[in-house]
Amino acid sequence: DPYLSMATFLFQRPLSEFPDRLAIADTDSGHSLSFRSLQSAIRTTGAALSSRLGVGQSDVVLIFAPNSLLFPVCFLGVVSIGAIATTVNPIYTVWELTKQAKDSKAKVVITVPELWPKIKDLNLPTVIINGKTNDTLSPTRKSQITHYADLISGISETDHKPPLIRQSDTAALLYSSGTTGASKGVILTHGNFIAAATMVTADQNMRNEGHNVFICFLPMFHIFGLAVITYGQMSRGNSIISMGRFDLDAVMKTIQRYGVTHLFCVPPVMIALAKQGTVQKYNLTSLRFVGSGAAPLGKDVMEAVFKNIPYAEIVQGYGMTETCGIISLEYPEKGEARQFGSTGTLVPGVEAKIVEADTLKLLPPNKLGEICVKGPNIMQGYFNNSEATEFTLREGWLHTGDLGYFDEKGQLFVVDRLKELIKYKGYQVAPAELEGLLLSHPEILDAVVIPFPDDEAGEVPVAYVVKSPNSSLTEVDVQKFIANLVAPYKKLRRVTFVNSVPKSASGKILRRELIEKARSKL
Ligand code: ATP
Ligand code: MG
Repeated sequence: DPYLSMATFLFQRPLSEFPDRLAIADTDSGHSLSFRSLQSAIRTTGAALSSRLGVGQSDVVLIFAPNSLLFPVCFLGVVSIGAIATTVNPIYTVWELTKQAKDSKAKVVITVPELWPKIKDLNLPTVIINGKTNDTLSPTRKSQITHYADLISGISETDHKPPLIRQSDTAALLYSSGTTGASKGVILTHGNFIAAATMVTADQNMRNEGHNVFICFLPMFHIFGLAVITYGQMSRGNSIISMGRFDLDAVMKTIQRYGVTHLFCVPPVMIALAKQGTVQKYNLTSLRFVGSGAAPLGKDVMEAVFKNIPYAEIVQGYGMTETCGIISLEYPEKGEARQFGSTGTLVPGVEAKIVEADTLKLLPPNKLGEICVKGPNIMQGYFNNSEATEFTLREGWLHTGDLGYFDEKGQLFVVDRLKELIKYKGYQVAPAELEGLLLSHPEILDAVVIPFPDDEAGEVPVAYVVKSPNSSLTEVDVQKFIANLVAPYKKLRRVTFVNSVPKSASGKILRRELIEKARSKL
């Protein structure tokens, strides 16, 4: 159906099969919605945005908020009327927020009282959800503010009269994480979201008939929390338990309280779950599936998580904003001896190839090259950035900028980002490989490897390491530990002990930050 909006698609199955099932529960407010009431809330919100704030088809609405029940209600309310949603990381500064608001040409903002101080000077009509601002406001600014309760008061779902929406219409401008440079506005259509949700759920493991309960503490502004967990899972009638921020103990308690079956997370959380003693304090036997994505994860960490949570499948997935979520995922067969380290096989509907980055020559299995993908989930391009679009989308293929290979069984291994390889003389060193090895040391809690300029070699790998509190490990011990495991060119030329490794809200090591710091000390 070329005329299908993602909001309509979402409810096709849940409303016919289990309208009264829990769609989303909010652990912060205690509120929850069934699928039937979720649909009603989305329609009411959409109707109110168009009639009260004049939001029209293709207008951009910016959502600047932590996770809550109203996050997907507002996101889907916006897209249900043919408008375009753009989501912003709540920890962004005023400068970063303003940049995205301008770049995306946002007309209306939706935010929460705590973030109001950052929104203040944007001078755009603003909807406040999850509470009220008591800030003193100038009369003009005051007239631009609507509290959510007032926005929807007197409006009902029958007022929702959406325009005709095509699958090819833009639904969202989601910004990439900005790990490797300035973040880019990724244009995703209704069709992209529908395809991504259909593909991921078409596999064996996740089809898993019955009712699954997903915990969502990963930020909903990011593709992982938004499309893979919240939207994708709701579309198949699974329940979402929303948490506004990550706290390991609170996550454990929430798993117990709601009988969570699926936990999708990012490497920093896996590192926490791998630790002895954390998980054992709780009864987590409802868990059947623990998945990690968004950044490379060493297989030793996966194995340690598997030892701690042996009743669940421990899997890795791979995806990006540009692919509207997951491209590959592990589907372990029941009873199969697990081999950790790959990101699984391609989800149905996605095609991929490995090419030599410079020549674009197609490479056979087990050869390392750039991962390129194709499929109905791939973005239309980058907003206002034709240069980056032309570089990334070539002849129908998305060039991911990631380095990887397929083995002969079709398992995809993601090694690292091309841009992050350390260039030592003629060799290339993948920081993720060394980080994975460092994490396999029992006294190392976290680690990051970066390039450091060197007159002779060009760049050399150096590490920042967090050791466990009682460890007597020295820098030389760490260097020796790695030197015993890798070829000489990969040896760590320096090790520095630190208290923590900087990571982003979507679980990525902020390598650029460390590189800049290290260079500024030169
Ligand atoms: P930017 O593109 O702005 O630099 P980003 O690439 O971090 O930021 P996202 O779209 O959030 O923005 O992340 C996608 C990237 O995350 C992938 O291209 C890949 O490098 C990395 N990634 C995702 N899953 C995995 C995985 N399982 N293993 C290794 N890397 C992964
Ligand atoms: Mg990227």
